[in-house]
Amino acid sequence: MMPQVLVVEDEAPMRRLLRAALSSKGYRFAEASTGGEGLSMAAAQKPDLCLLDLGLPDLDGIEVTRRLREWTQTPIIVLSARGQEQDKIDALDAGADDYLTKPFGTGELFARMRVALRRAARGGQEVTGPVLAVGEIRVDLDKRSVFVGEREVHLTPIEYNLLAVLMKNAGKVLTHRQLLKEVWGAAHVNNTQYLRVYMVQLRHKLEQDAARPRYLMTESGVGYRMRADEPI
Ligand code: CA
Repeated sequence: MMPQVLVVEDEAPMRRLLRAALSSKGYRFAEASTGGEGLSMAAAQKPDLCLLDLGLPDLDGIEVTRRLREWTQTPIIVLSARGQEQDKIDALDAGADDYLTKPFGTGELFARMRVALRRAARGGQEVTGPVLAVGEIRVDLDKRSVFVGEREVHLTPIEYNLLAVLMKNAGKVLTHRQLLKEVWGAAHVNNTQYLRVYMVQLRHKLEQDAARPRYLMTESGVGYRMRADEPI
């Protein structure tokens, strides 16, 4: 059975576009045009994934995300307009899984949905075994070893922890705040310069061309994302 998607979006043209895209792939879906309606439909239908607009007439998408996260881990992908950078980050920090900035292509939409649904299918568990691989990069969480192809790469403890978090969440955007909290601890969530420095180092050690990364992607103004292990 195809996953059930709940679309919460107040703009009719955007709903039409999503309806056409989702039905072309055979997804089942329901639509709500306000945050309140979205919340009650989510409770009634238990969707497998939510596409949630950030700018809604009643509650904003951040508040809807917070309320959904009170009782469900169903994946949430927020749809944001340009200029909603901070809202997007707040929604991710509130527990949204990913975001798409309008206008987006359907290829990108389906790729993000696949990543989110795959993670949900693992029961929200980040990993299923000790060895994580994305392209040529392989991390053994048990031995704490890192390889690029056949070459073993030696990382400092912080570089390793940062890479491990990104690999466990491959395909998913992680905000600066989430990465800093995970790797450096809650006291350091505002020290984004740490992240910049360590990402440069990691790219030099792992990427063929650190200036044009193929794995460790920057999400401008938001955070970082390890490429998903599938073509996007
Ligand atoms: Ca809107």
